[in-house]
Amino acid sequence: MSKASSEVTAFMQGLEKRNPGEPEFHQAVHEFIQSVMPYTLDNPAYRRAQILERMTEPDRIIIFRVTWEDDEGNIRANRAWRVQFNNSIGAYKGGLRFHPGVTLSVLKFLGFEQTFKNSLTGLPMGGAKGGSNFNPKGKSDREVMRFCQALMTELHKHIGEDRDVPAGDIGVGSREISFLFGQYKRLENRFVGTLTGKGLAFGGSLGRTEATGYGSVYFCQNMLGHIGDSIEDKTCVISGSGNVAIYTAEKALELGGKVVTLSDSSGFVHDPDGFSEDKIAFIKDLKEVRRGRISEYAEKYKSASYHEGEKPWGVPCDIAFPSATQNELSLDDAKTLIRNGVCAVSEGANMPTELEAAHAFIEADVLFGPSKAANAGGVAVSGLEQSQNAQRLVWSRKEVDDRLKSIMEDIHKKCVAYGSSGGNKKGSVNYVDGANIGGFIKVADAMLA
Ligand code: GLU
Repeated sequence: MSKASSEVTAFMQGLEKRNPGEPEFHQAVHEFIQSVMPYTLDNPAYRRAQILERMTEPDRIIIFRVTWEDDEGNIRANRAWRVQFNNSIGAYKGGLRFHPGVTLSVLKFLGFEQTFKNSLTGLPMGGAKGGSNFNPKGKSDREVMRFCQALMTELHKHIGEDRDVPAGDIGVGSREISFLFGQYKRLENRFVGTLTGKGLAFGGSLGRTEATGYGSVYFCQNMLGHIGDSIEDKTCVISGSGNVAIYTAEKALELGGKVVTLSDSSGFVHDPDGFSEDKIAFIKDLKEVRRGRISEYAEKYKSASYHEGEKPWGVPCDIAFPSATQNELSLDDAKTLIRNGVCAVSEGANMPTELEAAHAFIEADVLFGPSKAANAGGVAVSGLEQSQNAQRLVWSRKEVDDRLKSIMEDIHKKCVAYGSSGGNKKGSVNYVDGANIGGFIKVADAMLA
């Protein structure tokens, strides 16, 4: 066993002991430490400062009860958290997730990832994440409104434009951000950009809705461009049908790709003819307005089939965009994709690929864009929204998109700079190492300073 791998094992044992019962957090740290440990072994200053031990401990965690009233007049209670992970390079920044599966472990993994993702964007943003085990599915608009207002009644004490700036994530879209912002403004009696992902009429940025999906495709374009290839004529398999998946499909189509799948938690739709602009418009209305199920797509378009309870990874493709949720792509799925000739994977969701599956892709020389690099476009444009709010200006869609493109290009360059030490068979770029080390350096140097 090499010195680095025995240090990784010892570090993980300590971390698991300090944080029992937090598998998602352990997984995220493990992926990071495997890349960063060899790098820190060469630098005694990092070791002396216990940089990895400090970096894996959140600055603080706020836990609170949210009490709200449902439409029948029953009083309901949920638990909510805000994990303020690290503000060494800027005010805390990161989304809120509303999902029944939200636990402290999930939010710690997300806050940890966010810290290095935000660092990679080059913008001055620290890392945080929050959310609740509240399930917005099946709730009326008024119930969601009452829940958001009750949550903000507590959360507002802990956030602020120079303190902590939440945004959306799974289960928190423009409707929820609007309710949250309205309550924040009411309580604070100030109009400031403390939340991002706001509506265009009240301080939102053009291009924010599209940013995560577009950014994931731009990142993939950079990875392919680096080996002299492009997205044109590539068959793309996408999981999810939320904000990230929809705009990934839109941009992939625009760049000449053929998108053949989308999914939700019940199953996936396969359309061998590919999703056209009209078909994507149907999905937007279905998911964003009517909040329906993806199976409806296969009822409307006869070219498509619906696969209940299945994931789309068995559909042969050139590019996979896992864009639904964590751990949605297993080692077996990775083997299937590799067997079917996949050449690139770009993670639109946070940590959608299990650790062993990511290793398999890298081993097989598949271009594997990890989430902290590939999906950083969302938070990057959140950062641009903060800049516009602070300047009291509104930038054009082109200005925002040009900046997003150049941020994704810079992230790709950082990955190449720090991930080119030959982590895989052909000695080409190991994007996991590149993103982890590239994100680590700025945070570590700020902490040391
Ligand atoms: N939830 C998104 C992410 O995982 C965006 C966070 C933000 O815009 O602050 O990066």
